[in-house]
Amino acid sequence: MKKLYVIGDPVDYSLSPVIHNAALKTLGLDNEFTYDQMKVRKEELKEFIRKVRTGEIIGASVTMPYKEIIIPLLDELTTEADLIGAVNTIYIKDSRVIGHNTDGIGCIKTLEESGVSINEKKVIILGAGGAAKAIAYTLALKGVKKLAIINRTKKKAETLAKTIEQKTNTIVYTGNFDLLETVLKDADIIINATSVGMRKISENQTLVTEDLIHSDMVVMDVVYNPRVTQLLKEAKKAGAKTVDGSSMLVYQGAEQFKIFTGRKAPIKIMRKALLEVLDENSSKKN
Ligand code: NAP
Repeated sequence: MKKLYVIGDPVDYSLSPVIHNAALKTLGLDNEFTYDQMKVRKEELKEFIRKVRTGEIIGASVTMPYKEIIIPLLDELTTEADLIGAVNTIYIKDSRVIGHNTDGIGCIKTLEESGVSINEKKVIILGAGGAAKAIAYTLALKGVKKLAIINRTKKKAETLAKTIEQKTNTIVYTGNFDLLETVLKDADIIINATSVGMRKISENQTLVTEDLIHSDMVVMDVVYNPRVTQLLKEAKKAGAKTVDGSSMLVYQGAEQFKIFTGRKAPIKIMRKALLEVLDENSSKKN
């Protein structure tokens, strides 16, 4: 069996196994590949990579908090991962462990699918971690007009903005949450790329409330569990268009699936499996 994992700490919240296993089963690949979650502690990361290098494990999805700190342990980065400076996918090629990133493309495909154009738009990204980096770089390369990165730790937002400005033609504004009200006034799109709003961790919390959102905005949350986060509830109350994180999970996972198995991912099946679990979670709560 060819072994695949999603690794993180914690990792039990991840629904990547749901989408990958649904895809493997549908294509009849479940007797060739397995996909499980594995909690890997920081001190165990090196050993995990060694197992990928030897082929004992053929690849993995990488989640919090390892998207950046895993980089020095890898043999090579793809152009995307190198540019972004964060990795959400690792795989083995010619006995070398390669780091790649599919989060940015996952976000772009989600916005496209929702009919949201980013061309010439003013976008605010909340967060400066792995997901935020991937989204910020990808949007900068795809031609957003203005980008603002707002993060609790301002220094991280500034470092990210500086490298984006060096590598692309986009001007990036930065700040912490004190600046939020000002930048939100003329924003077209807000993307929450922080972990705030996650099920069981900070489920009823949001960094942006209804009073700061206007009705012609698009509000996207990368947090996908719960599907309707507190931020999206506030956005709906304000009459804004909302985009949840479930499609991004499916699209970034579909890109990984192609790398892991060499087969085109069955997107509809992956989405159906994910939404079933998310709906089941929300009905359990109610
Ligand atoms: P990460 O690298 O650990 O970054 C976490 C970010 O959240 C940082 O910017 C951090 O700010 C901020 N943050 C955490 N707690 C906060 C709080 N209480 N108040 C304000 N800011 C806070 O994590 P990540 O890998 O980017 O993942 C972030 C979220 O995106 C997770 O929920 C993950 O599941 C989700 N995600 C979803 C998809 C998808 O496909 N839908 C893909 C990737 C990630 P500081 O810098 O100040 O610590």
